[in-house]
Amino acid sequence: MQVSELQQIYLSLGANLGNREANLQQAIELIKERLGEVIAISSFIETAAWGKTDQPDFLNLALLVATNYSPLKALTIIQEIEHQLGRERKEKWGARLIDIDIIFWDNQVISEVQLTVPHPLMHERTFVLIPMAEIAPEMEHPVLKRKMKELLESLEKQEATKS
Ligand code: ADP
Ligand code: MG
Repeated sequence: MQVSELQQIYLSLGANLGNREANLQQAIELIKERLGEVIAISSFIETAAWGKTDQPDFLNLALLVATNYSPLKALTIIQEIEHQLGRERKEKWGARLIDIDIIFWDNQVISEVQLTVPHPLMHERTFVLIPMAEIAPEMEHPVLKRKMKELLESLEKQEATKS
């Protein structure tokens, strides 16, 4: 029996190998089955790989999920889903084809060895902020105290001055 209350959590999903859209759809189905109700799904956006850039473009999206699992249990469930999808694909493609990150856990700040929430790089990544600003534009980052639409605007300005 679950004793904790229903929590609203935001996840960022990405795939850059294989049938990216099918991988993401499959991940969403498994999240529905195992983690909780999927309340909102952003558009799927195509983005150039971040950090390690010599790899195929990603397809990214954000989800709002209601769950009554604890954060660490949810992380385990997410990793099992990644493993299941990755392993199936690994046999065929030899690479990990899905990434699922926890971006927010309600307004909580979590610092565990295996879990940092809010995700420490979310505000530096347009591939996280574009989908987040679509499904939760008014939501405020619990540490930075800025709305998703504001974080996205700042990052886009910053990137425009860089190039
Ligand atoms: P990355 O997402 O950085 O490409 P992985 O998906 O392989 O890398 O995750 C590496 C580790 O990050 C995981 O084993 C997990 O324990 C840790 N981690 C820390 N914070 C988070 C978070 N907010 N969401 C998902 N994983 C996290
Ligand atoms: Mg990850």
